[in-house]
Amino acid sequence: MHSDRTANKIQINGIVQGVGFRPFVFQLAKKHGISGTVANTSAGVLIHAEADSQNLADFCREIGEKKPRLAHITEMRISPAVTENFKDFSIIQSKGEHGISTLISPDMAVCGDCLREMYDPHDRRYAYPFINCTNCGPRYTIIDDIPYDRPHTSMKVFPMCPDCQAEYDNPEDRRFHAQPNACPVCGPHVFLYDKERNLLAEGKSGDKSGNDAVRKTADLLKAGHILAIKGLGGFHLAADAENPQAVSRLRERKGRAEKPFALMSADLPSIRTYAEITGDDEKLLTSQQRPIVLLEKKADNSIAESVSPGNRYFGVMLPYTPLHYLIFSSGNFRALVMTSANMSEEPIVIDNEEVFERLGDIADYFLIHNRDIYLRSDDSIVRHHMGERRFLRRSRGYAPMPVFLKEEMPPVLACGAELKNTVCLTKGKNAFLSQHIGDLENLETLDFFHLTVRHLQRILNIKPEIIAHDLHPDYMSTRFALESEGMEKIGVQHHHAHIVSCMAENQMDGPVIGLAFDGSGYGTDGSIWGGEILIADFHEFRRAAHLAPVPMPGSAAAIREPWRMALGYLLDTFGDEYPELPFMKQIAEEKISVIPAMIRRQINCPMTSSLGRFFDGMAALCGIRSTVTFEGQAAMELEMMAGESAGFYDGEWQSGETYRIPTAPIVRGIVRDVRNRVPVSEISRKFHNTLIRLFSDLCEQIRKDTGLKQVALSGGVFQNVLLSEGMIRSLEQRNFRVFTHHTVPCNDGGISLGQAVAGAAMFCR
Ligand code: ZN
Ligand code: ZN
Ligand code: FE
Repeated sequence: MHSDRTANKIQINGIVQGVGFRPFVFQLAKKHGISGTVANTSAGVLIHAEADSQNLADFCREIGEKKPRLAHITEMRISPAVTENFKDFSIIQSKGEHGISTLISPDMAVCGDCLREMYDPHDRRYAYPFINCTNCGPRYTIIDDIPYDRPHTSMKVFPMCPDCQAEYDNPEDRRFHAQPNACPVCGPHVFLYDKERNLLAEGKSGDKSGNDAVRKTADLLKAGHILAIKGLGGFHLAADAENPQAVSRLRERKGRAEKPFALMSADLPSIRTYAEITGDDEKLLTSQQRPIVLLEKKADNSIAESVSPGNRYFGVMLPYTPLHYLIFSSGNFRALVMTSANMSEEPIVIDNEEVFERLGDIADYFLIHNRDIYLRSDDSIVRHHMGERRFLRRSRGYAPMPVFLKEEMPPVLACGAELKNTVCLTKGKNAFLSQHIGDLENLETLDFFHLTVRHLQRILNIKPEIIAHDLHPDYMSTRFALESEGMEKIGVQHHHAHIVSCMAENQMDGPVIGLAFDGSGYGTDGSIWGGEILIADFHEFRRAAHLAPVPMPGSAAAIREPWRMALGYLLDTFGDEYPELPFMKQIAEEKISVIPAMIRRQINCPMTSSLGRFFDGMAALCGIRSTVTFEGQAAMELEMMAGESAGFYDGEWQSGETYRIPTAPIVRGIVRDVRNRVPVSEISRKFHNTLIRLFSDLCEQIRKDTGLKQVALSGGVFQNVLLSEGMIRSLEQRNFRVFTHHTVPCNDGGISLGQAVAGAAMFCR
């Protein structure tokens, strides 16, 4: 050994286990003539490296630069060590599995190397739907416990054949320690059934004949049938997107009237025939997380109208499992509808038995497989907007990747809200958001909530000391928190949590002016909030301004029937002498006539300052729609109808301890326009313009009052791109620093993060 050799100890934390990190280090060490060892430890990966200083420096640098695709380094500590004169470099046994704190990789789309093998008729995995390697495949959804190795995954029932075992054991193989490693000889298979559970085909792939079950699946889809297809995080319901009858049948059977269906296409050129791919859309579509990306529709397209009626966008994804690729290469589809397999708002089906029971009336055929899914995970939904990726749903491909926080946190479990529920667990500077759990209104979703909470605590090895929850006493998530034992319970106001969520992901310091715009959240006064400007810090907030409350005639019914909101605003503005408008003709007279009395006597008419409801109400008032089939539908259509206009309605606020923004001047303006038959496109645009100017003016007023120059935007209403873009530009023009969501959704799917961080801050005070 040369005398100028020095030694380094390199400790690496992050997602560094089960992603091919040690073989990567091994190869890199060989390249630079490094001797020493690499091992997995409880905290990540530990390297002892000896070489001359130049090679050692290059080695250390290239670890960060060339790390494997699924690896994510959160921390790398290099310190000098004593030279032990190792002769070569080797991977040694894992050390100290106690207190494991390494991160678990999300599920990732099949990689290019695996696809090449899968399409090669001479490869032993030809047409094999479960091909994977250290760079790709299932992770989070098949893990039951830690440490992450095969006996703790749903692959434990498939002992590896000698060929697979040899790959698994060979540090120079790209399947070294790939826990889900499998082949047609030893691994899982697909099976095609009809709804009477007759086996139609078995996908014994691996020989030249390819995969029979997949070929038949493609034929059935081509013939217009609906298939339940088992994927990575659950079943999809699939249909040929160019077949209007098939898509309509799927809508009818699934009980989903108008909410858009997601599409999957084989490649970018196919997508370009029906949707616009601009800016960073391509990067999002082809990323290994493979989210559903919202893309603007092309005017002339061959996709069935019923895929996303009344919507300017398609939600589109590329294939992400080997099985998806096989289906597309067997059938020449421009696009398939690939929607989560569930009955309306229940959780996505993952179990083979369950799929026949619960989806027997929806699917004609079932393509199932025998690799169990331990934890369901829906497809993620993103859009590219103003140079950022914006999540509408953060789930498969991203969970359980943590959000990185600025400060160390005590262990907290945050239970989320009611709709679009996620939970959040914290450890150190990491906030782990769960996958999308859904709307906690039915028993199935609640079970899934409990399961996810238990599962995440186990695989992340977190014992929460604090449990944070919403203030709404009737949320199932609140009840869960209040009934739990052994943890400090902390209630966090809904909109405070929204704003803190935005602050936390941006690693900013408070206080801020927080614009929290959403459909509904329980206020500290017991009324329903949702059009709020808060002055917020992590541990406290003050309501600086809000929309003036209006009645919600019929409470929850007013969410499903926005015409009730329209009437609520009219009565609030004009009293009983409200004007007759065209939208009222669609509603039975006796339904309308009871509402003034309901409001007067305060029967089932809670008050709300919600901006989401204001959008709903104005959409109904313009005659866009009087009822909705999913939350926010009317508001969304009002946004999509917006055309060009530089006009405004009168907007004002009333001073007091808290600024109050009456809706009446705006309502009066819109009523005038409706009666004058001004096109809805113009009304919508003027409505947006008005809100943007009004809230920007108010922010300036609050800056004068408080000196605060930072604004955080959060809440589901910011999914409205016209409003969010307008607010951001207008505030920036006025020299505010504007912070928005790009790591978690602005809707209630991101609220658990804010609850966790606010809860910890409140507890530590
Ligand atoms: Zn691969
Ligand atoms: Zn095998
Ligand atoms: Fe909310």
